[in-house]
Amino acid sequence: MPGSQYQLTRPRLSHSLYSLTESSDGSHEEQGGDGSTLLTPLQKLTVAMCKDEKTIKELIIGRRVGFYKVRGEIGYGTFSRVKLAFHALTRDKVALKILDRTRLDAQAQRLLSREISSMELLQHPNVIRLYEVVETPSRLFLVLEYAGGGDLHNRICNEGKLSDNASKITFAQILSAVKYMHNMNIIHRDLKAENVLFTTNGCVKVADFGFSTRVSGRSVALDTFCGSPPYAAPELFRDECYLGPPVDVWAMGVLLFFMVTGTMPFRAETMGKLRRCIIEANYTIPPWVPGPCQRLIRGILKPAPSERYAVDQMLGCDWLLPVEFPWTLVPFEPPSPLQSLLESERVTLEEEKVEEEVRSSLEELGFTVEHLQNNQLTESRSPVTGVYRILLHRAQRRWGCDSLPVVRGMVRDPKREGLRAYRGLRHTSKFCVLS
Ligand code: ATP
Ligand code: MG
Repeated sequence: MPGSQYQLTRPRLSHSLYSLTESSDGSHEEQGGDGSTLLTPLQKLTVAMCKDEKTIKELIIGRRVGFYKVRGEIGYGTFSRVKLAFHALTRDKVALKILDRTRLDAQAQRLLSREISSMELLQHPNVIRLYEVVETPSRLFLVLEYAGGGDLHNRICNEGKLSDNASKITFAQILSAVKYMHNMNIIHRDLKAENVLFTTNGCVKVADFGFSTRVSGRSVALDTFCGSPPYAAPELFRDECYLGPPVDVWAMGVLLFFMVTGTMPFRAETMGKLRRCIIEANYTIPPWVPGPCQRLIRGILKPAPSERYAVDQMLGCDWLLPVEFPWTLVPFEPPSPLQSLLESERVTLEEEKVEEEVRSSLEELGFTVEHLQNNQLTESRSPVTGVYRILLHRAQRRWGCDSLPVVRGMVRDPKREGLRAYRGLRHTSKFCVLS
C-alpha cells in the first residue's frame, strides 16, 4: 500500500454548514413507478428525525445521537464512557466516546480539544480515526473508528504473553503509528497496553489521544507530567521538563517488555519505590527472551533520553528485520525520477478510485453536490464530514489499508536492510528549560 494512503483523499468540493432542511429541496427525489415520490436515504432519515415520534423519542433519551443509533457500553475511562453505535445511513459500526460536559473543568476541556485536534490530523492504518464530533448541551460525543478485538492489556492478562512473532507484528504496528505521529509532531504521552486496541482481524490501533500534544518541533521541551506511572520515563520523575519523542519511546519499551514476558518491567508497592526503580532503570529481562529482542529492550529502556534509541533505530533493529510492512514505511533512498513518476501515478490512480467510490456512495445516500459544497469536510462537527470520513475509510480499507505486517522468516528485503544504517544513530536533541 502506498504511503499516501495515510493522507485524506482531498475532496475536490468545498463548502459551509449542513442543515437538515437542505436535503428537502427535492432535487434528488426520484419518481416511483406509481408516481409516488421516493426519498433518498438521507431525506428519509432527516424527515424521521424531524417528524417521526419514535425517532424523536430515541434522540431525546439518547438511543440516537445525530445520525448514529446507540447500542451497549464497550468500555470506560477516567472521563468517558464508550458505547457501540451504528451509522443510520452507512450502517458502519463506530465507537462513541461520551463525555459529560458539565464535569469537565478548564483543564479537562483543554485536553479534550487537544485530543480532537490531534486526531483530526492523523490518518494512519494503526491509529484510531476520528469521524465526527457531536455536541449536545450536556454531552460531547467523539465518533471513532470501532476496534472490536479488545485491548492489548486484557489480551495479555487473559491469554498470557504474546509469542515472539505476534509480539513482532504487534510492536511493528505500534512503532509505525508512533513514527507517523512523531513525523506529524504529535506526542501521544499515554502509550500503554490499555490504549492499544485491535480490530477483529488483528490490526493494531493506537487509541486515546487525551494526553497528546502537538509540538512545533522535536526539540520543544514539555513540562506536564502525563500518562501512567509504570510507563513513565525516568525524566518525568526526575526533571522539570522533558522532550516528547523519547518519552513515547520509553513507554514503547515498557510495552514491548510486557508483550514478550507478560509482566511489567517496573513494579513496586509504593509510588516512591516505583519512581526509584524507574529512575535507576532497575529491571531484569528473563533469559529466555530472544537475544535480538533483549537488545532492543535495552536500547529503549535507557535512563538518559539522549542515549535512548530513536524510533528509526528501533525500526532498524535485528529483531524487526524479518517483518515486512504492507505499506511503504520509510523512504530509504530517493527514488529515480522514473520510479517516482510511476509511483505518483499509481498513488493518484488509487486515490482517484477511492475518491470515486466515496463520491458515488455519497450520491446513493442522497448527498448532493450542494451538501458537499456547503460543508468543510475537514470540520469534525458536521454530519456530512462523519459520513464522508466513514465512507472514505471504508474505501481505503478495501484498497488495502489495515493489512497486517508479516514475518517472513529471514528473507531479507533490501529496503529493510537499508534500515541498518539507522543503528548508529544517536538522539542528538538536548534538554532545555521552557521560558
Ligand atoms: P483513560 O482512563 O485511559 O484516560 P479515556 O477516558 O481517555 O480513558 P479511552 O481510553 O479512550 O478513554 O477509552 C476507554 C476504553 O473504551 C478503552 O480502554 C477501550 O476499552 C474502549 N474504547 C475506546 N475507544 C474505543 C474504540 N475506538 N473501539 C473500541 N473500544 C474502544
Ligand atoms: Mg485510555
